[in-house]
Formats: sequence, structure tokens, C-alpha cells
Amino acid sequence: MKGPTEWEMRNIIMPLMLSGAKMLDRHCPKCGSPLFEKNGRVFCPVCEYRERQKKGEMKGVEERLREKLTEMANSLPSDIDELEKHLRAMERIIELLERYKKLGGE
Ligand SMILES: [Zn+2]
Repeated sequence: MKGPTEWEMRNIIMPLMLSGAKMLDRHCPKCGSPLFEKNGRVFCPVCEYRERQKKGEMKGVEERLREKLTEMANSLPSDIDELEKHLRAMERIIELLERYKKLGGE
């Protein structure tokens, strides 16, 4: 993973410094950002931010899957073979949604 970008420095690290979190002289092994300590907890603000971003992206995926599922449920074919395929595809979407939910931790 690459180091903090200028944007991340300005919008994540700087405000954290101003908020009174202590900047340690150690660096995150993952992204190279300085580590911070606040309320006895040592953390990397950049990795935490990126993690949240990733979850946000997954929410987008989840939404799109849900939309597709609704769309499919609203257009069930009358042909039995087609219906079978249709339902199987819907099942896959539901499976994916379940998996995303687990990844998101909620
Ligand atoms: Zn990091």
C-alpha cells in the first residue's frame, strides 16, 4: 500500500494533530504514515480512514446488488427453464449479499 497522499496528510493527519492526539515517532508498517496515540490507543489514522472508505465502497456494491435483485424479482420469465436460471442467479446475488454483510461486520 502506498504512503499517505497529500490529501490524506491535509485532511486526516493535520486535523488529528490539531485535535490533541499525540504523534508518535513510529510509523505505520503498512502505509508509512506516522502513528498516533489517543486515549491510550495507538493507531494509524490513514489505514483507519482507508478501511472506512473500503466499507463505503462495499456498501455501494451491496446497493447495486439489491437493485439488481429487485429488478430480477420484478421480471420473472414465464418459461420454466428461464425461470430456473433466473432464480439461480437471484440465489447467487443473495449469497453475495450475505457475504458482504459478513465482511462489513454488521
Ligand atoms: Zn497505516
